[in-house]
Amino acid sequence: MNQPAHNVDSHSVMYITPRPELIMVEGKGSWLTDNNGKRYLDFLQGWAVNCLGHCNPGMIAALNSQAHQLISPSPAFYNEPMIRLSNLLTDNSCFQKVFFANSGAEANEGAIKLARKWGQINKSGAFEIITFDHSFHGRTLATMSASGKEGWDTMFAPQVPGFLKADLNDLESVQKLVTKRTVAVMLEPVQGEGGVIPATTEFMQALRKFTKENNILLIVDEVQAGCGRTGKLFAYQNFGIEPDIMSLGKGIGGGVPLAALLATEAAACFVPGDQGGTYNGNPLMTAVGASVIEQLIAPGFLEAVQAKGELLRSELLAISQEFGLGGERGMGLLRALILGKDIGAKLVELGRNRSPDGVLLNSPRPNLLRFMPALNVEDDEIRQMSGMLRELLKQAV
Ligand SMILES: *Cc1c(COP(=O)(O)O)cnc(C)c1O
Repeated sequence: MNQPAHNVDSHSVMYITPRPELIMVEGKGSWLTDNNGKRYLDFLQGWAVNCLGHCNPGMIAALNSQAHQLISPSPAFYNEPMIRLSNLLTDNSCFQKVFFANSGAEANEGAIKLARKWGQINKSGAFEIITFDHSFHGRTLATMSASGKEGWDTMFAPQVPGFLKADLNDLESVQKLVTKRTVAVMLEPVQGEGGVIPATTEFMQALRKFTKENNILLIVDEVQAGCGRTGKLFAYQNFGIEPDIMSLGKGIGGGVPLAALLATEAAACFVPGDQGGTYNGNPLMTAVGASVIEQLIAPGFLEAVQAKGELLRSELLAISQEFGLGGERGMGLLRALILGKDIGAKLVELGRNRSPDGVLLNSPRPNLLRFMPALNVEDDEIRQMSGMLRELLKQAV
């Protein structure tokens, strides 16, 4: 496909997605500003990445002070922010060990490798991992193979073998796929790209019980749903279960490239030579991550996320009723409005083109909108977005 002609001179940028003809130049809180000075209310936040909004002061301070002190001593040495962030994560979760990476896909690759290694040691070389239809785990070859996205099985064939797909919230569909080769079940507690589909508590608890009884690891991919997004620090904490392995990405860096692989003592079976990466534990990134987690666990912060989630939920429900749409779903500040018709892309474009201020929305599936605002979005901004969305819906339907 040829790159379309642009007013913006982007000829040297590899064409991997259609982009509008504008350049984003500035961000503050829930607002982005483009090169024409137009402002956008951002309910996308880099796909749930900027959990503290654009250019959070605490993150800037951490980035500045660390940049002046030490940027990269090499991964062969410990550094202070790496240790501080590891401790913050283990002190506030059921895990004991942390490995830092640069992207969600890389953290998931680590989770897959760790599970296979565990299978070699503890389960006669079991290596199969059961994942789920409509899941998304990243864009490396292994994580694409793990993902349940339509068409991805042939896109860069052959796939990495060893991933079998079950149906979310259907324990029997998991049980049917289990053999002596099964080493792990891996899932998103809330399927994000799949359309914001939460696992049920009943399913998560039954899955945890079943995997424990059958010596199978449970891996949660919390790249999107973790780090306060659901109103708990980690999404699994909503279900009263404890997984063996967890991946984090997106929100953990609040906008800088940082991800993490967490494991229990029993699951953390890597030995030197198994895992690494040039930037793992990079102090510039982990200093920012520590600032993010410290802000998320500050007294009252997660309670406020829950309250804002409730406000967004009630606004979306009211809109659904007013326009005869299909309702809403989600957890905390990861929510979807079910449109009932394929007008998602149109609403996204109308929102971006709205004037004087635009609104940035996302439609991971043609018949729904997904909302992932900053976790510190103001109540009034939720109401503003709702008002703008009502306007867009009037135009679209
Ligand atoms: C975004 C995402 C990933 C991939 O993260 P990258 O940083 O883009 O590699 C993996 N899993 C889930 C659930 C995600 O939402």
